Amino acid sequence: MSRYFVLLTLPLLWLSCGSKSDEPCVTDACFKTFCDSLVEDMLRFHPDWAASQGRYEYAGQLVIPNAERRAEEVAFCDKWLDSLRTFNPDSLSIESRVDWILIENRLESSKWYITEFKSHEWDPSGYNVAGSIDLLLTGSFAPLNERLEILSKKLEHIPDYYTAAKENIADATQEHTALAIKQNSKAPEFLQTIVDSAQAAGWSGPKLEKLDSLVAGASRAVTGYVDWLKTDILPNAKRGFRIGPELFAKKFELDLMGSYTPDALYQRALDEKDEIHTEMLRITQELWPVYFGERLENVTLQSVKTLIGEISKQHVHRDSFLVAIENQLKDLEAFVRENDLLYLDPAKPLIVRPTPKYARGVAGAGIDAPGPFEKGRNTYYNVTPLDEMSDEAAESMLREYNHYQLQILNIHEAIPGHYTQLVYSNNSPSLIKSLFGNGTMVEGWACYTEKMMLEEGYGHDVPEMWLIYYKWRLRILCNTLLDIGLHTKNLTEEDARRMLIEEAFQEQAQVDEKINRAKVTSVQLCSYYMGLTEIYDLREECRSLQGDSFSLKAWHEKFLSYGSAPVKLIRELMLSELGQPL
Ligand code: ZN
Ligand code: ZN
Repeated sequence: MSRYFVLLTLPLLWLSCGSKSDEPCVTDACFKTFCDSLVEDMLRFHPDWAASQGRYEYAGQLVIPNAERRAEEVAFCDKWLDSLRTFNPDSLSIESRVDWILIENRLESSKWYITEFKSHEWDPSGYNVAGSIDLLLTGSFAPLNERLEILSKKLEHIPDYYTAAKENIADATQEHTALAIKQNSKAPEFLQTIVDSAQAAGWSGPKLEKLDSLVAGASRAVTGYVDWLKTDILPNAKRGFRIGPELFAKKFELDLMGSYTPDALYQRALDEKDEIHTEMLRITQELWPVYFGERLENVTLQSVKTLIGEISKQHVHRDSFLVAIENQLKDLEAFVRENDLLYLDPAKPLIVRPTPKYARGVAGAGIDAPGPFEKGRNTYYNVTPLDEMSDEAAESMLREYNHYQLQILNIHEAIPGHYTQLVYSNNSPSLIKSLFGNGTMVEGWACYTEKMMLEEGYGHDVPEMWLIYYKWRLRILCNTLLDIGLHTKNLTEEDARRMLIEEAFQEQAQVDEKINRAKVTSVQLCSYYMGLTEIYDLREECRSLQGDSFSLKAWHEKFLSYGSAPVKLIRELMLSELGQPL
């Protein structure tokens, strides 16, 4: 109790911070102290989130998602918003000002999710303990013995957790209920691995029995939840999955922090889809004789698809997937340097490695960067080897990541995409940006670099590279059309399917997965296109303002120097440095 009291008084403590009068201290230094106190309080208040960021001291707690907790969370946000607003963002340094805006967004957003979005009432898949248990089971922050002790504490509360979940669900959707059943059904088997680990760690006798009974209790709770969803909820789940234009627009604003409204972004994506199709038809006309030996009179989207299928046959052998990526990274690095695109810090190498077993699941490749509380750890480029795949699955994967697509993937994930952006953002260390950085800017940057590299001549400007790039670009753009269409425009599943297959050249399995994802999530699928569009437009705006003095290298370095801030804020800062009125 006393601990809670002390933490509650923290906002008052920084307010006095050494000043003689009663006036609160609103300097940059005091703001930084404020940020540190806020982050510590948030880590305490959200144990699972803290653990996911590399802070494990609260990891034994399990937050019970009941009404009382939600009220506490709203009060938590209000308290910190009040404190935040004693600072005037306009009188802080640029770096602090960005932090101020990110904090305000985060707190307002948390409140909105509870009071307006209310997914705790209609999304049964929001209740799942597997992720936080997995962090404890596989994490390397403490010896297994210690982690199992922490886990035991957590297991005790799992029955209360699912009791609260049942009380919350009032009006579920079919889609989220089905997802909850699918995901939670795997939990008992997964929970059993805790006992297996304990045995492997030498636990025995009463200690092991105690753990075993905790696991059994937790398993019963999850199974009870799944059964209840199947019998009581699923047959009566009548709420539609579409969140509707009002909720979508607000979520769009809070999650993405972009400069477009959903309708404006939708229209832009529609227009661009037409432009890309025109380009793809032109390239297909040009390449057709090279691949099929004859001129094509009537080029259609179907011919584009046929040609893409032919080009996709150019891919590396399954055994050299990892080596091919390693070699490409060297090429990308050399290209960025030779063409003066931006400075790459040679002291921060990226290590390519096979994805560790515990992190496998989705095929492909991705950056695994250290969290803000695990400084000093290496940054890895995880590549899932294809050796566990059947010949058929490997072939399909290799066609997807064909010779051209693989290069685009490496640009996006590594150089000069995510990995490079990360190195820059770590150069201006801000805990707030590491924790609450703007995902739209981060994804937008990675997508922006794909086109930028091609424009600068990477891949020798061959038409195949552009054709495959456009297919990729259609995927980004159709994600936006699908998401906004399904949630706000009554787009039917049939029309969505037709768009993805006929106009974006996707495969059936990929399409099913994507439509399902778009139904159970909202807004996130728009982040790539929003960020990409905003960054590209800002670059062109600066180029036309600066004329001959514009330098692409200087622009990239400047843009990245603000850290993972929302693009519209970076725009404001960059234009004001150029002396432009807004
Ligand atoms: Zn093949
Ligand atoms: Zn990405």
